[in-house]
Amino acid sequence: MTISPPASNQSFVVPPVGSQIDYGYFMNCVHCGLCTSACPTYLETGNENDSPRGRIYLMRGVVDGRIDLTDTVKHHLELCLDCRACETACPSGVQYGRLIEPFRVEMQQRELAAGDSQANGWFQKFILYGLFPYANRLRWALAPARWAQRLGLDRLADGLGVTRLLPKQLQRMQALLPKLPSPTPRLPEVLSPVGKRRARVALFTGCVADAMFGPTNWATARVLQHNGCEVIVPRNQVCCGAIHYHSGAGEPALQLAQQNAAAFNVDDVDAVIINVAGCGSMLKDYGHVAHELAPVGHVSNVPSQHEHVGNVLHERLDKFAHKVKDVSEFLMSLGPIKPTGEIKLRATYHDACHLCHAQKIREQPRDLLSLVPGLELVPLAESEICCGAAGSYNLTQPEMAAQLGRRKLENILKTNAQAVITGNAGCSLQLQMQLRQSGHDIWVAHPMDVLDLSYRQQQPACLR
Ligand code: SF4
Ligand code: SF4
Repeated sequence: MTISPPASNQSFVVPPVGSQIDYGYFMNCVHCGLCTSACPTYLETGNENDSPRGRIYLMRGVVDGRIDLTDTVKHHLELCLDCRACETACPSGVQYGRLIEPFRVEMQQRELAAGDSQANGWFQKFILYGLFPYANRLRWALAPARWAQRLGLDRLADGLGVTRLLPKQLQRMQALLPKLPSPTPRLPEVLSPVGKRRARVALFTGCVADAMFGPTNWATARVLQHNGCEVIVPRNQVCCGAIHYHSGAGEPALQLAQQNAAAFNVDDVDAVIINVAGCGSMLKDYGHVAHELAPVGHVSNVPSQHEHVGNVLHERLDKFAHKVKDVSEFLMSLGPIKPTGEIKLRATYHDACHLCHAQKIREQPRDLLSLVPGLELVPLAESEICCGAAGSYNLTQPEMAAQLGRRKLENILKTNAQAVITGNAGCSLQLQMQLRQSGHDIWVAHPMDVLDLSYRQQQPACLR
């Protein structure tokens, strides 16, 4: 049931930000506060406005016209990681993501429309939208950095203070850069199963992940092959659109969703496989994103044929979304073939927020890793507390990202693990940076990196 906001609201000529959100989502919150201790930003600041309950109160106040959307209110909302830990903690089933995501999209859209210089800045235009979503452009852009690392010029530039001359956001990007692996060849369009075919799957390779974690994409494809999967890698696939959607660029996000739905022939495969938690969460949400960004009847001024177009769009994106599976989720439902290569490694597992909170995937990666002979998986305290990566959060909210990164690092170091394993590219970058800056040599791996080595009877570099 859709509950309307108070009637007094109707006097607004321009409706307040968030007015399009189903008011019932706000009403589900009973203000019990049981979510606050799960919220990373509240744990760090102790400020109620940085808690889920406080943010819901702020957003609802704006929608009701009781609270002005001041810079302070915006700051509390922008500081949210959208990690969805509050959804896991909430006993009332509040769908916090359904509130904060459209609210921030609209907030950003209004800033863009008003010509706000930060929302329209060079970083958004050339880096966030012009570089990150394009794996090939990113590969080219990373080539000089790779050579600089090989020749030690990056350390020299740091030592001479040259990097401090860069704009702040580029400095942060430079700090996040991991030791770049050699470029991997492009995955073939079709990879055959090892042994009898058990499934046919399509692999979503991503944009940033494809450019920076090519070896993990290859490892994922090989693990799928070892499990009897024929793997299709559609050539026309594009960025999932999460970068755009989460920064308020709704229209390009919807276009990318449509391009992906066209690139993947979902009738022809058992699943669309993704190995990055953030992208997986976005892909699984395509149906909802379509409803939110192109509601039927709002596609145009109601002519029935436009309603039909809207319905077709929703159905296509819903259908695509239902085929998407995280690789761990898929392998556990298929019944994994036990790897036999021994890897004597003490490892711990960090839950990526968009895997555990948004997709409710917790046991499957751990169950897969427990199959690797010799691998000891030790628990990580606060495993489900965000590491501070959260998409581009560590570029836009560097202080809080660094605080949460240090908190995660302390917990990792307490485990005495030789490796930390996680299923998200953003977490991997954040963890690698924290470990590198604190001088710790701990391997940061994806579950598929470890499984692949075990299937191929090989050892990780940290054990060689
Ligand atoms: S979001 Fe849930 S847990 Fe948090 S205050 Fe509201 S009802 Fe309580
Ligand atoms: S999404 Fe994460 S950071 Fe945001 S309110 Fe919920 S728990 Fe806190």
